Amino acid sequence: MNTPDNQKRIQELMDRLAEDPPQVLLLEGGTVDEREAMALYWAARLNCKHAGSACGQCPVCIQVQDRVLTDLKILDGREAKIKIDEVRELKPLFGQPPRGDGWRVVLFNEAQELTQQAANALLKSLEEPSRGTVFLLLTPQREWLLPTLVSRSWVLTLAWPDEPHISVDTREWQTALMTFWRTGKGWFKRTSTKGAVDKDIAMGLVLACQHEIVRTLTGASNTDMSTGFAKIRPAALKRIDLALAHAQDTLSLPTPVNPALVLDWLATRVYGIIREK
Ligand SMILES: [Zn+2]
Repeated sequence: MNTPDNQKRIQELMDRLAEDPPQVLLLEGGTVDEREAMALYWAARLNCKHAGSACGQCPVCIQVQDRVLTDLKILDGREAKIKIDEVRELKPLFGQPPRGDGWRVVLFNEAQELTQQAANALLKSLEEPSRGTVFLLLTPQREWLLPTLVSRSWVLTLAWPDEPHISVDTREWQTALMTFWRTGKGWFKRTSTKGAVDKDIAMGLVLACQHEIVRTLTGASNTDMSTGFAKIRPAALKRIDLALAHAQDTLSLPTPVNPALVLDWLATRVYGIIREK
């Protein structure tokens, strides 16, 4: 099965873990797409009959890739909060064995989007016996989940995205963005200049900011931006990271988007988050 080249170490760990899968596997690190790719690999690995690794070609593997395998349940926090009703709806399933010969995999994509109630309902489900069911939590950083959920999980940390090469142009944009976040000034004049922003600059800026967040969360704040981020409440920082992920997703769409508009949205969104009470 196709997994990102920089996550092969995780794939090997998963192949070994699959012999005796933990009840809850937590994947952190990497990018949103990489976490999802590795989650699907895990689901395939636990259901594919091929020995040693998921083959990527059998009906089971293909159904996992198409996200239609009956024994794969996905709750996705990328679009909206994961609510308690969605967790409760799954409950009757846990008393039944999986339909196939493998494991039922319940995947929470961007699990930090579980509401408090939903997270508690999930915790409760974990305490009850569930036949042939394993859970999978995806999140950028384990700190964003309830500690009680993390303590029940086997954690795998995906390789972080490589330190991006930051061009002089991008640095200038980064400084302008920080000035706007501090003062509310100077930004829109910059982005509305015709031809000033292209997709590469926009993406470079988003990646640079994401790295600053990683720096902040790993206690390595040594730049202007990461020092600023370090003063922000964790809940707000999480929302900033999600806004960055959203901007990244939008810029990666195959359909053309106006990069200046994406950056304006991001600048305004973060400005608002920083000022929320
Ligand atoms: Zn297969």
